[in-house]
Amino acid sequence: MNIILLGPPGAGKGTQARKLVAERDMIQLSTGDMLRDARKSGTEMGRRVAEVMDRGDLVTDEIVIGLIEERLKGDQRGGFIFDGFPRTLAQADALGELLDRLGQTLHCVIEMQVDDDALVERITARSTCAQCGEGYNDIAKPIPADGKCEKCGGTEFIRRADDNAESLKQRLMEYYKKTSPLIGYYYAKGKLCSVDGLADIDEVAASIAALLDRAPA
Ligand code: AMP
Repeated sequence: MNIILLGPPGAGKGTQARKLVAERDMIQLSTGDMLRDARKSGTEMGRRVAEVMDRGDLVTDEIVIGLIEERLKGDQRGGFIFDGFPRTLAQADALGELLDRLGQTLHCVIEMQVDDDALVERITARSTCAQCGEGYNDIAKPIPADGKCEKCGGTEFIRRADDNAESLKQRLMEYYKKTSPLIGYYYAKGKLCSVDGLADIDEVAASIAALLDRAPA
């Protein structure tokens, strides 16, 4: 089963994608994670990507489509979760063509609905374990008092460079201008479903599971 998690930054796409990987053996394809790896590479391309990401702008369609194309050719296991991709209509068209070429179907697009005030709070409070990627939030899920990750025992936690109020404002503008038209795009294709992204993490996961169990094969 191949699905898209669609929603603004901080909606919980990454959190839910990681749960689906653990529970359904699906493969998470996060263009944000791929680009963060690229920026660590120290290449000229990585440096340019870092500047764009820190401003909160979108990286070019050409770069992200190339990254996704590369990964789709590999192992498919329980299917793909597209997390943070597509983010423009051009990316959505490209994804459709890539899946067609591979004889694959897009089963379901899950829109995670949240309001902007909650996003600012979530994003400026979040951090992840540097070792296993487990997510924490200063208010909702603080790092354990002993300073160790509850999943892997790691002791280093990182905050994303673009998780600040200024870049979030720009990321939200980009979302509403360029990504939110995908809601209509996938609705018209009969692929769109919505969940309440403000609910508790396990409740959101249960809503997504119910949608996937009902989605046509
Ligand atoms: P994310 O981790 O999904 O919040 O993405 C972090 C940043 O990476 C975004 O603000 C963009 O600068 C860039 N990015 C991630 N995915 C895409 C995409 N599909 N298209 C363009 N830029 C992207």
